Amino acid sequence: MLIRLGIGFTVALVILVLAAVWSYRDVAIWPQVGEKVVALTFDDGPNPPHTQALLRELESAQVSATFFMKGANAEAFPELVRAVAAAGHEVGNHSFYHRPMLALGSAAYVEELQRTNRALESALGYLPHLFRPPYGLQGIGLTNALKKLELRSIAMGVHGSDWSEKDAGLITDAILADIKPGAIVLLHDGHADVADPDAQDSRAATVAATRALIVALRADGYRFLTVSELLALEQQ
Ligand SMILES: [Zn+2]
Repeated sequence: MLIRLGIGFTVALVILVLAAVWSYRDVAIWPQVGEKVVALTFDDGPNPPHTQALLRELESAQVSATFFMKGANAEAFPELVRAVAAAGHEVGNHSFYHRPMLALGSAAYVEELQRTNRALESALGYLPHLFRPPYGLQGIGLTNALKKLELRSIAMGVHGSDWSEKDAGLITDAILADIKPGAIVLLHDGHADVADPDAQDSRAATVAATRALIVALRADGYRFLTVSELLALEQQ
């Protein structure tokens, strides 16, 4: 009995590991590049007025970044979607409802990603190429949905827990401690778990951390690219 339980557990574990390896095989996590470049990414927006505050920060520093937007927020604030893109930043799909997308079936995920694509396309006039999985979780159903919609999945390499940390200095220090060339830095202009786009909190700490990060990384010789620009430099 124990042996049979053991075999069953081992088989289940192997299947889970194989499913995870298969699901993440095309996910960009830390592109290998030959120069000092990083990509700043901002998730869960657009989220007024904090997205605008970030746009001002990025504009004054002449930095291009990538914004992975929730479909619900993009639908609520299309003018802000346009403002992000007009400022030269890349816009990606971050799902409509921001649920963990681990289920096997893909039809519901195709619908959710398409709804977000439609919100972004109606604001921008073009479809996004990039997707970031909510909570970094990607199962077989999501992988199939992404393939169908020709969206490349982008994970993150470095973060400063800015979804919960309110001290800008601690967010900045955590990111700087782990940074290396090719890093995709996760930050947030919105909130993952707020369903109502109008009910989101301040992202003042993230805005201040972004300012400090840009100064520190520039002093260390880094350049800032969008995620697509970073992927174009990836060494095979
Ligand atoms: Zn998110």
